[in-house]
Amino acid sequence: MLIGIDDTDSPRTMCTTYLAARLIQSLREHGYRIHRAFLVRLNPNVTWKTRGNAAIAIEADGDVALAFDLACRWVEALADFGAEETHPGVVVVQEKPPAAFYYQAARDFCSIDEAVTVLTKACALFKGYKSGRGLIGATAAVCAELPDVTFELLVYRTPDRWGTARHVEKTTLFTSEADTYPHTWDSVDTGEDSTVCVPHTPDPVLFGIRGESPFWVARGRSFIFSEEPACEQVFLTNQGTDAHLVPGTIGHLEEGRSYLLEGVVSSPPKTGKGGHVGFGISGRDGTIHCMAYEPTKRFRDVVRALLPGDRLIVVGSWKQGSINLEKMCILSLVEWVVKSPPLCGICGKRMTSAGTDKGYKCRNCRTKSKEPQVTLQLRLLRTGWYEVPPCARRHLAKPLVRGAPSLSPTPVIIGMSIQP
Ligand code: ATP
Repeated sequence: MLIGIDDTDSPRTMCTTYLAARLIQSLREHGYRIHRAFLVRLNPNVTWKTRGNAAIAIEADGDVALAFDLACRWVEALADFGAEETHPGVVVVQEKPPAAFYYQAARDFCSIDEAVTVLTKACALFKGYKSGRGLIGATAAVCAELPDVTFELLVYRTPDRWGTARHVEKTTLFTSEADTYPHTWDSVDTGEDSTVCVPHTPDPVLFGIRGESPFWVARGRSFIFSEEPACEQVFLTNQGTDAHLVPGTIGHLEEGRSYLLEGVVSSPPKTGKGGHVGFGISGRDGTIHCMAYEPTKRFRDVVRALLPGDRLIVVGSWKQGSINLEKMCILSLVEWVVKSPPLCGICGKRMTSAGTDKGYKCRNCRTKSKEPQVTLQLRLLRTGWYEVPPCARRHLAKPLVRGAPSLSPTPVIIGMSIQP
């Protein structure tokens, strides 16, 4: 069976992955065999998410009705029901439903009614608390197929410490990264000298190590000294796989979806208030704006070095009229032509502008010239992929160290599901 859970936390406490780790312990104590635990990230542009829009699926063998009962009891015991935005959902299916609902939830928006239709067809046991919105994530989690998969080992705090400062030795995180990168990633940001895998929110997570296999996340974890943890759990996950991306065309974008788009830089990058950098990009059917926000740190230096005419693939979410960049590929670069006033052919002094469209004049000997001095500057960029640093990476974004994005999305085979 697959047990799906979502929407149990609030900004002030809890984490659905922690609840899942406790449920797994409890299922084991009741004699269940646990095969795998999945941490499934869904559309990052859902505004009603608590943090990273995660849902959980647990693959287990044993009595289905009791598993549903246990899952509901753990949700009732731990979910933050008092929080306005917490609407838990619990789902148990004996057969994995078609993957289409998962792809819709990862790349687009779903309704509770659509989730209930999938669950009814799958003869699922399910319960939605309050508005029942958590059924969307819980259903998507049990429908998920992961053609590309990564792992996360999550380490949890004892409840008496929730909300207090975390004690994780920073140097040991850097040692872990030095030993295991690129088999693990995003534990730290060496460029910013900051830690990435230790949250700052008052939830039960102490830290999480992301990597390519259970072996590598366990090895990464083994270097880290910290306060005494409560428990640990390894999840298979779609994090770091670009599962949220679809190819798109400029001029035909839908709010809240995440795209790969090809275009040509049409207006030069400008740094605005707060250090956010924006530029225009044109495609067949229009021109749009791309943004590299301040938290993307040194990635903005790459963006600032773009010139009109550079051909790009941009990757990111389409939100309120702009693409929020996660990464980009420079396909070709134009020559950087700099026009400046020429030297006077008579006296050798630098000429000055004679006014708009009037060419240049020498203030020394009054000689006139129409032609500017043209120089080719060295471009500071090369063609290829560039990404935001670890400190600004979205959970679903595939780090380039795992490979460049695929330019065609994973096919959705309606009515069939592929086991991860
Ligand atoms: P948690 O740790 O509790 O899962 P979170 O940051 O993952 O926290 P949730 O609290 O689960 O966010 O809130 C996300 C809500 O949005 C859930 O109710 C989920 O069912 C719903 N949801 C997820 N993806 C979609 C989607 N594509 N369309 C509509 N609703 C969605």
